[in-house]
Amino acid sequence: MSQTFYDQTTTAPESPYDVALRPPDFSEFTGQERVKERLVLMVEAARQRGDTLDHVLLCGPPGLGKTTLAHIVATAVGSKLHSTSGPQIERAGDLAGILTNLQERDILFIDEIHRLHPSIEEYLYPAMEDFRLDIIIDQGPKARTIRIDLPPFTLVGATTRAGMLTAPMRGRFGIPNRLDYYTVDELQKILLRSAGLIQVQMEPDGAREVAKRSRGTPRVANHLLRWVRDYAQVRTSNQAVTGQVAAAALFMLDIDEDGLDEMDKRILDALINKFAGGPVGLNSIAVAVHEDASTLEDVHEPYLVMQGYVKRTPRGRVAMPSAYKKLGLPVPLSATRDTQGDLF
Ligand code: ADP
Repeated sequence: MSQTFYDQTTTAPESPYDVALRPPDFSEFTGQERVKERLVLMVEAARQRGDTLDHVLLCGPPGLGKTTLAHIVATAVGSKLHSTSGPQIERAGDLAGILTNLQERDILFIDEIHRLHPSIEEYLYPAMEDFRLDIIIDQGPKARTIRIDLPPFTLVGATTRAGMLTAPMRGRFGIPNRLDYYTVDELQKILLRSAGLIQVQMEPDGAREVAKRSRGTPRVANHLLRWVRDYAQVRTSNQAVTGQVAAAALFMLDIDEDGLDEMDKRILDALINKFAGGPVGLNSIAVAVHEDASTLEDVHEPYLVMQGYVKRTPRGRVAMPSAYKKLGLPVPLSATRDTQGDLF
């Protein structure tokens, strides 16, 4: 399976580097203003009432700050954060172990909550609503239910696939908080902060060059920063990251000025040259580019769609005119019409 520079599965453990650069509070968390504003308000309301914070759902592609926000929320309410993920909770007993360890007002962060097993979800509902856990022990006629009362706690759920959450689960959260890709200005600010923390002499122009190629994602920006730092250390006399130095460093990684990497271009190439521009299913593209379908769906596709290279339609993925232009190909007439035949 090929790995591009910033491929990341959502189950990957957090690196110490990510942790070191994590903003500790809302004031250092750049961007996502609407989500931040809402969370600040919820925290304040709970504080005034002396109550437990309501459950929170954070949605968005990997690396946009869901885990970071969970930590910030825990700090803001002065509670301990317990962290786990959907696939890690295999049995009801695992969940019971986690829930019975919580103290009043603790935060339970479940990453990839859409990957919770349906039977585990069933146990979670009463825990979320009434702070109780009904565990069934034994089987057949001897089966009985034991009720365990739980301390009031807050569940912070994170998902890269809001659409895969079951309706009952979604219903148990309030309004979902959707994180968007960051602007170049926001990423520049994040990069300058990170550079300060790891003592890299980064000029605003240098940060901008990196920001432009970070596909709207702080985790990608921070990882590119590491590469740019190494490049500046070896290839420059004063180790300063200027715009020129950053551009040269990123050129070596085959990341173009729009932030597309080799895998993105392979996806576009397959879509256009192997599948005649689509519509084609994601699994067929995954086979053609030798990549895991879920990595394509979580990491590559959202950015390609957001940038207007690819369109998702009910019949499959379709190459847009800018995809042809990106590969230096003439745009066929069919690509200027959508699947219903309407010009767009
Ligand atoms: P997710 O949980 O959505 O995959 P993380 O919260 O783990 O993303 O964030 C990935 C990295 O990006 C972390 O190092 C984090 O510090 C950094 N980061 C994310 N959002 C921001 C932000 N708004 N400001 C500064 N750094 C951020």
